[in-house]
Amino acid sequence: MFLAYPVAMDFDMTQDQRDFRAAIREFAEEVVAPRAAEMDERGELPMDIVKQMGEMGLFGLPFPEEYGGQGSDFLTLCIAIEELARIDSSIAITLEAGVGLGANPIYEFGTEEQKQRWLVPMARGEMLGSFGLTEPGGGSDAGATKTTARLEDGEWVINGSKAFITSTRRSARSSSPRTPRGSRSGGPTGRSAGTPATRTRCRSATAGSPRTTSSANGGRASRSS
Ligand SMILES: Cc1cc2nc3c(=O)[nH]c(=O)nc-3n(C[C@H](O)[C@H](O)[C@H](O)COP(=O)(O)OP(=O)(O)OC[C@H]3O[C@@H](n4cnc5c(N)ncnc54)[C@H](O)[C@@H]3O)c2cc1C
Repeated sequence: MFLAYPVAMDFDMTQDQRDFRAAIREFAEEVVAPRAAEMDERGELPMDIVKQMGEMGLFGLPFPEEYGGQGSDFLTLCIAIEELARIDSSIAITLEAGVGLGANPIYEFGTEEQKQRWLVPMARGEMLGSFGLTEPGGGSDAGATKTTARLEDGEWVINGSKAFITSTRRSARSSSPRTPRGSRSGGPTGRSAGTPATRTRCRSATAGSPRTTSSANGGRASRSS
C-alpha cells in the first residue's frame, strides 16, 4: 500500500519508559556492578540479586496482572535487559531467558492450568524458567534433537541430554521441544559440552501435561548462558 502523504512516527520513549530506564540503570550501577567481577571469577549467579529483580517485577513485565505480571510490554522489558547488559550480561540474560525462553512460551501456548501453575510464579520472580533445546550434538537444527518423551504406565520417561541451557542450575522448571515441560531444581556443577544421556521417569499430572525431568547442563555456563 502506498500512502500519498508522509506519516510521522514517534520512536521516542514515553516519560514512564525513560523513568523506568533511569531506575534500572541506578539498580544496575548500585547493586549489580559492585558484585559483577567477583561473580564472573567465581562463576556464580548471585541469586539474591535475581530475587531482588523478581521483587521489582522485572520477570513479569510483559505479562498481564492476572498472571502475576506487570501488564507492561516487550519494549519495557528490552529497556531493562539493555540497562542490565550495560553492566553485567549474565544478569541481563538471566532476565531475558527467564521471561523470553521460560515464561513466554507458557503464556503464549500453555493451558490455563499450566499458566496458573508455572507462569504465575515465574512472572512474580519466585521461579526461574528455562528452555532446553540445545543438545551436545547441536543446537541450530531443532528438528534433529534426539531427546524423547514417552508415556509409560502413567509416567513420562525422558531420555536424552541437554547442553548450554541458561539458568539450568537455578531454574525450577524447564521446557524443551521434546519435553513440553520438565522440572529441575538444580543441576550439575562444572562446565562441559553436555551431560551423558540419562533416562528419567516422572509421574505425570495429567496425560496431556507431563511433569518431567530431563538432564541438562548448567555448570559454570549458567553464569553467562
Ligand atoms: C550464552 C548462551 C546461552 C544459551 N542458552 C540456551 C538456552 O537457554 N537453551 C538452549 O536450548 N540453548 C541455549 N544456548 C545454546 C545455543 O542456542 C546454541 O549454541 C545454538 O543453538 C547453536 O547450537 P550449537 O552451538 O550446537 O551449534 P551448531 O548448531 O552445531 O552450529 C555450529 C555452526 O554451524 C552453523 N550451522 C548450523 N546449521 C547450519 C545449516 N543448516 N546451514 C549452515 N550452517 C549451519 C551454525 O551457524 C554455527 O556456525 C545458549 C548458548 C549460549 C552461547
